[in-house]
Amino acid sequence: MKHLISAKTLSKQDILSVIDGALAMQAELRKGNCHQLDGKIMAALFFEPSTRTRLSFETAMLRLGGNVISTENAREFSSAVKGETLEDTIRVVAGYADVIVLRHNEIGAAARAASVSTVPVLSAGDGAGEHPSQALLDTFTIAKELGRTDDLTVGLVGDLMYGRTVHSLVYTLSQFAGIRFLCAAPAHTPLPDDLIQYAQSRGAQVEFEPSLAKVAGAADVLYQTRIQKERFHSLDEYEASKGLYVVDEAILARMQPTSIIMHPLPRAGEITPAVDRDPRAAYFRQTHYGVPVRMALLTAALVDEEA
Ligand code: ASP
Repeated sequence: MKHLISAKTLSKQDILSVIDGALAMQAELRKGNCHQLDGKIMAALFFEPSTRTRLSFETAMLRLGGNVISTENAREFSSAVKGETLEDTIRVVAGYADVIVLRHNEIGAAARAASVSTVPVLSAGDGAGEHPSQALLDTFTIAKELGRTDDLTVGLVGDLMYGRTVHSLVYTLSQFAGIRFLCAAPAHTPLPDDLIQYAQSRGAQVEFEPSLAKVAGAADVLYQTRIQKERFHSLDEYEASKGLYVVDEAILARMQPTSIIMHPLPRAGEITPAVDRDPRAAYFRQTHYGVPVRMALLTAALVDEEA
């Protein structure tokens, strides 16, 4: 069964086939006749807030002719409030839907769900763990915008400790050749050691550069992130971490003309609105790539699996 739990399990070939699938979906969307998932049902179970991930998964399913059942605040509005375990909820929902998209606040929740599910589980984020579908759309964004996924200097900026999109992106990009990660993170939110070791074991370079201006000058991709306030154990540590790295017009002026700025969004002040006008600001285009990428993922989970 085609679960999507961790980007670490994705080979370069898997990633390239999602990119190809998403390109094909873009072409089909232009023609406007997608019926691959007619009659199928996707359940979106969200135990944490979401705008882009839930709505783009739902849009992807609807664009493919499928249907959606959804609980957007499952921590309050599902039987979790009554003490139902995640495993029991998944066992039940797997009887209603053909695929489950799950966002949960606990690391490892998606793997637990997959272990009891009779239908594919696609993780939409598990706490501070991973966000694999975001990494696939981020990798797709790089491929679309820069025309390559090899030989890249990628500036990882902000909350590299709790930012799950960064974790999954390190896994996907580390499959490619010539990758150099330049990390600029506050002292309380460095890139975790296991990710550094993983990237290095795949041949990627990992460097630490506290100057955002220097990272901006060197990067092909400047990947900015939000400080994940909800994950901090101490408010003092959060306060000490926020606002240290802000992409503004001065940082933009340091960037190469062919580079791009990405951000998984939402932003909370770490990219100033004045930057949005610059064509290198790719973050809203990035959100839109989420639909064809998730169409490719849903199709791979539901149709390609049956074939
Ligand atoms: N939307 C992304 C996530 O769910 C990034 C963020 O929340 O900062 O991980």
